[in-house]
Amino acid sequence: MSEATILRVAIDAPVMQAFDYLPPAQGQPRPGQRVLVPFRQGRRVGVVLDLATRSAVSPGRLRRTLAVLDTEPLLDASLMGLLGWAAGYYQHPPGEVFAAALPRLLRHGRDSTTGTLAWQITPAGVAAHAARQDARAPVQSRLLAALVAAGEALDADALGVLATRWQEAVRALEKRGWVERTRRDDAAPASGAAEEPPPPSAAQAAAVAGITASRGYRAWLLQGVTGSGKTEVYLRCIDAELAAGRQSLVLVPEIGLTPQLVERFRRRFPAAGIALLHSGLTDRQRLDAWVRARDGRAGIVIGTRSAVFAPLPRPGLIVVDEEHDASLKQQDGFRYSARDLAVWRAHQLGIPVVLGSATPSLESLANAQAGRYQRLSLPDRAGVARQPAVRLVDLRRHVAQDGLTPPLIEAIGRHLEAGGQVLLYLNRRGYAPTLLCPACGHCLECRRCDARLVLHRHEGRVACHHCGATRPASETCPQCGGTLYAVGQGTERLEAALDERFPDVRRVRIDRDTTRERGGMQRMLAEVASGTARLLLGTQMLTKGHDFPLVTLVGIIDADQGLFGTDFRASERLAQTFVQVCGRAGRGERPGEVYLQTHFPDHPLLQLLVREGYERFAEAALAERQAAGWPPFSYLALLRAEAPAREAALAFLTQAREAGEALDQRGVRLAGPAPAPMEKRAGRHRAQLLVETTTRPRLQRFLAAWRERLDALPAAGRTRWSLDVDPVELF
Ligand code: ADP
Ligand code: ZN
Repeated sequence: MSEATILRVAIDAPVMQAFDYLPPAQGQPRPGQRVLVPFRQGRRVGVVLDLATRSAVSPGRLRRTLAVLDTEPLLDASLMGLLGWAAGYYQHPPGEVFAAALPRLLRHGRDSTTGTLAWQITPAGVAAHAARQDARAPVQSRLLAALVAAGEALDADALGVLATRWQEAVRALEKRGWVERTRRDDAAPASGAAEEPPPPSAAQAAAVAGITASRGYRAWLLQGVTGSGKTEVYLRCIDAELAAGRQSLVLVPEIGLTPQLVERFRRRFPAAGIALLHSGLTDRQRLDAWVRARDGRAGIVIGTRSAVFAPLPRPGLIVVDEEHDASLKQQDGFRYSARDLAVWRAHQLGIPVVLGSATPSLESLANAQAGRYQRLSLPDRAGVARQPAVRLVDLRRHVAQDGLTPPLIEAIGRHLEAGGQVLLYLNRRGYAPTLLCPACGHCLECRRCDARLVLHRHEGRVACHHCGATRPASETCPQCGGTLYAVGQGTERLEAALDERFPDVRRVRIDRDTTRERGGMQRMLAEVASGTARLLLGTQMLTKGHDFPLVTLVGIIDADQGLFGTDFRASERLAQTFVQVCGRAGRGERPGEVYLQTHFPDHPLLQLLVREGYERFAEAALAERQAAGWPPFSYLALLRAEAPAREAALAFLTQAREAGEALDQRGVRLAGPAPAPMEKRAGRHRAQLLVETTTRPRLQRFLAAWRERLDALPAAGRTRWSLDVDPVELF
């Protein structure tokens, strides 16, 4: 069989197939091992997917594998299964899927050992030392004695102190089998006392009991308002897994992976070994964390979305925190949903998965209603905190100046007076989103995007928030020479207005402009936590994860931003943001208030949300989705195309549509092509074609057949295009 065997190798290239190679001159790699292969003019590192006896490539043209890089499979069968399935489900080139799962250093062929090289004594070495067989070699003798005395491996630094010519001696000892090489773990778990957990509430105890008693696959939807103690539930379940010798994987949104969260895990499990996987790591740190997960030294793996691909030899539990969060979906390249893959992975591994959120996605709620997920809820806030009271401020009756209405200004003053902290939410950075010339009606627009330029007054520039283009701000209209006016509010303008009205109150503004500097965010959060800063304003960045126990008033400056979005998910997102922002208020001992400014206080959605809460809103929103045939009652894929010329993008999509119409179309509807809602972006014209189906298998069957033909379309080479399966944003 060895003669006939062909290796099917995943190589990081935008090609839907794996590549076939002859095995190396010596040795036969197994699936999951990395190999070095000739590729086009150069060499590449790939992962062996499987072994085949036949290839579509003629035998004469098959090239030979140059080397096998791993002595053991780097990826186990279950991880290989996950990646293979993901490549098929998301219709993405397998080599790129494997590349997304591996740390860069492994992709580039580095070996997977980590830690510091060290030497330890073998039983034969102990015996030799006892018998003084080494008497004729004084340096070797000294090293052996030191290793016996140390009782652990010694590294180059330690051995170098014993003898200058230690390297020669150690090599001789290795040859005799008295000493062997090892790697010392530099990130060994710290010891120390574990923090005592608080006694669980009845709801927490019930949730923990349910999750830990379930063996085998089960998906739990843990719903609880912010501060209700969900993390505490995860910690208790993880504790049970650690006690049973199993690993837990915890996925968090990008913004949720704060030093505070990690500290909390470390304090609770000082001996567990925690591997962190996120985008802020150096390549070396990422490799170390990955390897510690893979060899089981890490009992807990915490990471952002790509950590769903972390290797877990002893898997016990998967947690997805803030499961509704959009950052769990990769939005470019290999567009996968880490939440959905986590559920698939738990199913495949036969272990429980916990999806936690104060505001579950409508998809997950529908899964719970259908009985696929089990619901658990934490109705009360932990400790003494209570839900805040909400007041709608009608912007038609109360005129806002720089974003602030008189009732809100009054409330800010009242809460500051009473010693509370105030949080103002406005999801738009900069000074003003529009520069308008009242004389001719001209608005300053980006030359490369269908978007207005935002004034950043402090920097004296206007900027496009879509392509990043900026230029010096000018006060004169380029069309008629009139004077430009700043229209609308951004956080910078709101900040200026607060400075004017509350000049003696210390405040911080948290948005992407003020937190660019490293550590800036942490410094501002510290000012808030200590109570030094009393006024707190910011964008989306403020609404997630952070706990502000001293905040007693939350003001939502413009609730209408999300009320009339083009996307069918706009209202769901508004509701989630609203609940998350409100969750910032009154988390401590004082009761909280929320002021929400809107032009549409009677909007049914707002009414439902404010009066009856997220749960009832979600029910109504799901009913609307069902009536309109949107997910989760249908299954979507979006084919996006962009090109410098509008015609090229549309031509590709038209050809794609024709190719789709030639296929089995039962239960499949193609909508478009149509220009994207923001058609021009960064100088490229964008268009899209929506695929809608009634069942998931139908979508999968259609996409598999369709995807093959897309590469071959005449216009494919002139456009940049991508396929997004289960898109979360429809543009
Ligand atoms: P969530 O993850 O739902 O936002 P956390 O688990 O972070 O909630 O809990 C919020 C706060 O309440 C934390 O400070 C936590 O230590 C505390 N807490 C959680 N559960 C309890 C409990 N049973 N008794 C006392 N305090 C608790
Ligand atoms: Zn632009």
